[in-house]
Amino acid sequence: MRILVNLHSGNKYYYLINDSYITKCYNSETFYFDKKRICEYIEKSNFFIVMLDTTDCIICGENILHYDTLITDGDWVWSADLKHYFDHHNFVFPEDFLQSIRSKNYEISEISTSFGEELCERFNFFSENDLSDFEVRRLW
Ligand SMILES: [Zn+2]
Repeated sequence: MRILVNLHSGNKYYYLINDSYITKCYNSETFYFDKKRICEYIEKSNFFIVMLDTTDCIICGENILHYDTLITDGDWVWSADLKHYFDHHNFVFPEDFLQSIRSKNYEISEISTSFGEELCERFNFFSENDLSDFEVRRLW
């Protein structure tokens, strides 16, 4: 399942994103004044969990990073295939994700090793044990 999760405790959304939402986005025409900057930001983000597998884009069939490969900017963690859908197929990110990028002026903060470990711990906690702290939002 594709995910987009905010790792900060203040923000409690855990988005689950399925194929039909991607198809819906593809058929809509959402305009982003800052699409290029968001693409660059996502490009600069770091691998968080790497799945040694790829998948096929559900729209164009191109071989892309697997959704179980996760990317992070230190604040959010998201499925790696979303970049392709955003770049090429009008994927619409939730507004709070976009706001968070804009509020940082499209700058990725450096992630230290210890912070990386802390993120892993937090993320494992979130994904395996307890989503009750989160409002799970399904983007269907
Ligand atoms: Zn594609």
